[in-house]
Amino acid sequence: MTSSATPRTITILGATGSIGTQTLDVLSRTPDLYRLHFLTCNTRVDDLADQVRRYRPYGVAIRDQAAWQRFRSLCPDFTGPVLCGEEGLCEAAADAANDVVISAMVGFSGVVPTMAAVEAGHVIGLANKETLVSAGALFTAAVTKHGATLLAIDSEHSAIAQCIIGERRSDISRFIITASGGPFRTTPTEAFSTITPAMALRHPNWSMGAKITIDSATLMNKGFEVIEARWLFDIAASCVDVVIHPQSIIHSMVEFVDGSVKAQMGMPTMLVPIQYALTYPQRAALDVPPMDLAAIGQLTFERPDYDRFPCLRIAYDVLRAEGSAACVANAANEVAVAAFLAQRLPFTHIPALIEQTLNNMEHVPYPSLADVVAIDAEARARASSLLTAMSHTA
Ligand code: NDP
Ligand code: MG
Repeated sequence: MTSSATPRTITILGATGSIGTQTLDVLSRTPDLYRLHFLTCNTRVDDLADQVRRYRPYGVAIRDQAAWQRFRSLCPDFTGPVLCGEEGLCEAAADAANDVVISAMVGFSGVVPTMAAVEAGHVIGLANKETLVSAGALFTAAVTKHGATLLAIDSEHSAIAQCIIGERRSDISRFIITASGGPFRTTPTEAFSTITPAMALRHPNWSMGAKITIDSATLMNKGFEVIEARWLFDIAASCVDVVIHPQSIIHSMVEFVDGSVKAQMGMPTMLVPIQYALTYPQRAALDVPPMDLAAIGQLTFERPDYDRFPCLRIAYDVLRAEGSAACVANAANEVAVAAFLAQRLPFTHIPALIEQTLNNMEHVPYPSLADVVAIDAEARARASSLLTAMSHTA
């Protein structure tokens, strides 16, 4: 697609990550569409400096103070603003010059800056699903209040958005979210205790950041995607199903009241949903491998196994519980995933740590943004002390 219109202004929160770098890749293929405003990172400031030299954004924002201090020596000639800390990220996200903000930070760290972009009424390309998991009700209410627009980047939600175009809401009966099943889909329960971080980081179909890769191995990622769908599309949890589809060719499906089902398909690459969010409601040519169904041979489907993958059940439970429950589960999951990656928690104990944290926290029915931030911090503290207790008894 080419455009003679003025390029739109875009900021990428989490530019140095998997989604961030792929967004820059897509943008470099359609340079007339967007002008880069801010790029942000946490600590990987060398990568950010490379991006600054290559893509020439207007400004940068760096979460980590030591990394922020180092940036000047890496890019001494950079004349744009160099913002620091969460305040700096929020300033970049809310800047009035933004047309579009890509939310591609990982975990709860995305919540406050993404909310700043919403409150400024921007178009948000949302990859950071933890925002909707931790603060879905607040976040969607703020989108309506401030006239912001949410465009899904997660492939399943991009698929659903594509399937419901032109359909009446009342005609939709069910969303069917597909899951690859992760690297342990066929691993017997007895072998789960031998799972190492290196094994869990080897995802069969997708190359992603470490945290979401572990979430994909526990199926917590799929659970979070059910919660994400509930808030993005305002649909009841009981109308969102998950089916295991190991080939990751169908990215999700929508069933209608007459029994018709629409599926969105394509090769498993995030470039497609990222570009779709950037060109929406149009499409643009993209050089990705064509889908050769005859070569793929079979598309298969299985029911998820809630006994081997309890995180998926936990996600449905916290969604039904509403209020602060999903925020607590998200915080405990972040602690559990970090501990697993640091070899301080066995893979099999990730769901137990989340459930114990949930049992140790008070339920808050209608949390404010300040409450969500406090609940996240408290849940992390509880999960960390439960983790210490677990390792003493292990
Ligand atoms: P990565 O870990 O690859 O990248 C995360 C980005 O966020 C990096 O730029 C990182 O900076 C920045 N970041 C991390 N912690 C902080 C913090 N505390 N404050 C500010 N910035 C921070 O993650 P992914 O790109 O894989 O995932 C990003 C989001 O997109 C997640 O919510 C994930 O669930 C979602 N998503 C990802 C998909 C994928 O294919 N990767 C697919 C669908 C959704 P630095 O580099 O300095 O650490
Ligand atoms: Mg996904």
